[in-house]
Amino acid sequence: MKVKVVKFGGSSLADAEHFKQVASIIKADPHRRYVVPSAPGKRFKEDTKVTDMLYECYEKIRNHENIDELYAKISDRYNSIIAGLGLDFDISGELEYVKNAMMHRSGRDFAASRGEYLNSLILAKYLKFDFIDAENVIYFKDNGTLDEEKTNEAMREELMQHRNAVIPGFYGVMPNGTIKTFSRGGSDITGSIVARAVDADLYENWTDVSGFLMADPRIIDDPCPIKTITYRELRELSYMGATVLHEDAIFPVKNASIPINIKNTNRPQDPGTMIVAENVSDFDPEKIITGIAGRKGFSVITIEKDMMNSEVGYVRKVLEVLEDNDISFEHLPSGIDNMSVVIESRVLDGRRDKVLTSINRSVRADSITIEDGLALVAVVGLGMVKYKGTAARVFNAISNAGINIRMIDQGSSEFSIIVGVEEHDFNNALAAIYNEFVK
Ligand code: ASP
Repeated sequence: MKVKVVKFGGSSLADAEHFKQVASIIKADPHRRYVVPSAPGKRFKEDTKVTDMLYECYEKIRNHENIDELYAKISDRYNSIIAGLGLDFDISGELEYVKNAMMHRSGRDFAASRGEYLNSLILAKYLKFDFIDAENVIYFKDNGTLDEEKTNEAMREELMQHRNAVIPGFYGVMPNGTIKTFSRGGSDITGSIVARAVDADLYENWTDVSGFLMADPRIIDDPCPIKTITYRELRELSYMGATVLHEDAIFPVKNASIPINIKNTNRPQDPGTMIVAENVSDFDPEKIITGIAGRKGFSVITIEKDMMNSEVGYVRKVLEVLEDNDISFEHLPSGIDNMSVVIESRVLDGRRDKVLTSINRSVRADSITIEDGLALVAVVGLGMVKYKGTAARVFNAISNAGINIRMIDQGSSEFSIIVGVEEHDFNNALAAIYNEFVK
């Protein structure tokens, strides 16, 4: 029997109408056995997510402010969902308990996690599924990272005893018994952990968009959806700013090769995006590239010195300075007598002089310069390996648009090309590449 794990994001569970839609999706397929909900998200643009209200409660308590009014709003969100579903369920005791616990002892993560906890209680009741508290199946280590082995074992053992269950997303427990959350959007990770534990055939991640698009719709008009993408390609695109799925959510399922399907709760008929381990056989030769993404806000430190190429240990010394300053770099394009280091500008804030002086002291360069305002564009696609001249097409498209390329980096795995351009050229560079390959 197939098993599907389904995770629903906050916008999919923002009100009673969405709960009904979610239930109809789950009931439409008996393989959808394990459900991971987020906390209620925004119902409309100016609305506030329950998680954000809970964080605010925590801050108010710390500042000795009264939370009655704010907490009443949170309670209203849950009560109106229950009323809208016509559910015979009195959640007032739970709400009272959570409020007291927040006021008397528990930390920030406990407060935030209650959004998922309460939402899951309601969804479990509505679906008539069992409720499994994440604090009994998701374990963190003392250093705050996930205890994968213990979690996987406990989760598997528990789930085996339930035909159907709802497991709240976003949190687990520390060795000392306190609640800890993942970073924001972390219910995606919980879904992935559950999928791995039951060795699911599919992890469906339901949200409010029909999967990933080939480019940012704020820059490209109506970009094509991505039908299939590999974990590796996705990682590259997510890092460069494509946000639909939490970037850590692929790790639990990746080794088990469990595919993730990003689906739209409001348009369940859309196929969405399939995230898979290896490239699929239905490779589309029309689409050499899978997606384009990018980010602004990078700086380039360029170091020049005659005969640099024959000086052993030169690069190491430069990188050592970065390491000593706890700075990670993005790219390292180099020439014979020069090398550049591309770094996120914000990490240099307040210490650029110190870093430049230390590099100079360490390697005695002929010149060291730093330039800001660089944007990076990543062109990603496993298809690129199969076709000659892809890089040339990328560079031509950019230069035909009258844009100066400041940096080029192509990893040896050949499934991504990174191009650095001036920030003001960013949108045009992205459009030029998109039009070259997709239009
Ligand atoms: N509710 C949490 C957040 O808003 C976690 C999640 O939705 O995945 O970040």
